Amino acid sequence: MTRVLAPGATIGILGSGQLGRMTAMAAAELGYRCHVFSPEENAPAKEIAASCTTAPYSDIAAVRAFAGAVDVATFEFENVPASTLSAIFETTPVRPSVRALQISQERAVEKAFVNGLGIATPRWAKVSSPSSLVAASAETGFPAILKTARFGYDGKGQVRIDSPADLIDAWHQIGEREAILESLVEFEREISVIAARGLDSEVATYAAVDNVHRDGILHTTTAPSAAAPDVAAATDGIARRIAEALDLVGLVAVEMFVVPDGSVLVNEIAPRPHNSGHWTIDACAVSQFEQFVRAVTGLPLGDPARHSDATMTNLIGRDVESWEAIAGEKGACLHLYGKAETRAGRKMGHVTRLSRPPSSP
Ligand code: AMP
Repeated sequence: MTRVLAPGATIGILGSGQLGRMTAMAAAELGYRCHVFSPEENAPAKEIAASCTTAPYSDIAAVRAFAGAVDVATFEFENVPASTLSAIFETTPVRPSVRALQISQERAVEKAFVNGLGIATPRWAKVSSPSSLVAASAETGFPAILKTARFGYDGKGQVRIDSPADLIDAWHQIGEREAILESLVEFEREISVIAARGLDSEVATYAAVDNVHRDGILHTTTAPSAAAPDVAAATDGIARRIAEALDLVGLVAVEMFVVPDGSVLVNEIAPRPHNSGHWTIDACAVSQFEQFVRAVTGLPLGDPARHSDATMTNLIGRDVESWEAIAGEKGACLHLYGKAETRAGRKMGHVTRLSRPPSSP
């Protein structure tokens, strides 16, 4: 029995944002159909998908019907309840696994998993009360960042703490929820690597890239990273080890800090396509989205090599108003997500600017 899903099969995607949209576009290019499940109507991925379900993730009857209608299920964001994925898995393959989702859903579990592989992270400690926050700050020192354990993204649910006097206020600011406290890293650069792992256990990685965040939101990604080759190789090795240890079938983005002595600390892992991989649509033979589709359908992985260097800039909030100027710019590849309402901090699209040839292999 072949484990490869033939074109014409249906990929179920939980979540309906731009990552699902670009996945559905890549799936369509390979002849697959996508069925998108999320509570939101009129969402970016639902404009592209062949079929959609609009229901809460907790609606188990709707989830079971979805599972029955798809050949494989995946997710495009980490905040899908693990119980939803487990219900699907009773009848239908889920890639990546429920375990991979659970590890990335909770910051303390994620950090413990990474440290358990012998990979360094910023110093951190669990926080569940004001007294444990005070104890955690003895581990991390100051400045530190308090991050909610779950449901944080794009810098949300995070508060910087500069001194002991700010601890209790920060605890109130994050809503007095389970959290972790992390030491604030004076990093030289932020790097991410996206690793794909296929059903046959083959691993392919994209070039390490430099990321610049503004207000906790990714602003630009530059491919390749300007880091020294040994640092870039170290980040690649870390992403590969994490993909193996997750027993991943799919993609994992590993966000890392490089500190001045050249050592690398893992900040976050996301077992799905990632904003810092959008440049691959225009600069690589096989984009992260196609690679994701290949992995979850059991196809062999494609070639992640880039044919161009690239800089990706997110169009956040009103940045999107320059769409017409960008569309007229030579070498600029414009991607818009079809979101009707422009809101501050909302990712409306991105632009990738290519330069050729690659500066290094
Ligand atoms: P996160 O949601 O954890 O990925 O954090 C969003 C961004 O905040 C990161 O990409 C960094 O730019 C910054 N940040 C998060 N944690 C730290 C840290 N421990 N030290 C320094 N900067 C951080």
